[in-house]
Amino acid sequence: MRRRDSQRKKVYLAEREAFDFLGLASCTPLEKPEIEKIVKAVVRTKKRKFGYLYQVTVAYPKNRNRATCWFRGPREIRISLPPWSRNKLFLCHELAHFLSGPQIGHHGKFVSNYIQLVRRFMGPETAKLLKTSFKKFRVKTKGGIE
Ligand SMILES: [Zn+2]
Repeated sequence: MRRRDSQRKKVYLAEREAFDFLGLASCTPLEKPEIEKIVKAVVRTKKRKFGYLYQVTVAYPKNRNRATCWFRGPREIRISLPPWSRNKLFLCHELAHFLSGPQIGHHGKFVSNYIQLVRRFMGPETAKLLKTSFKKFRVKTKGGIE
């Protein structure tokens, strides 16, 4: 049975608040080569952990309003990044979905993967800020479906 993704709204509110604090300097728009480089690095991380090479493609829609991470097949993932989401924070969000796997939604290990990716690509200060924001909005980091 699939659990309702009840934590999604809280995650969105918390990251929005963290994003506002970060300001433009930390969240400047990423160019496609920078995005692809980060995606490749995270694909390698997942390969080290699970032994499989996942195929992650990124779509750049001009006017879709949601950023998504879609599991098309067991090892085939498609991330869609509309213009507003082409920065490190929201890229880390979608890549946390990729690392956590399908059916996790915004629960459990999604949150810890998200914080870890932000620490890796944006630094410990930003990770701390996001963590504080998650705490404020009562986002749970444990107890998610594995
Ligand atoms: Zn999400």
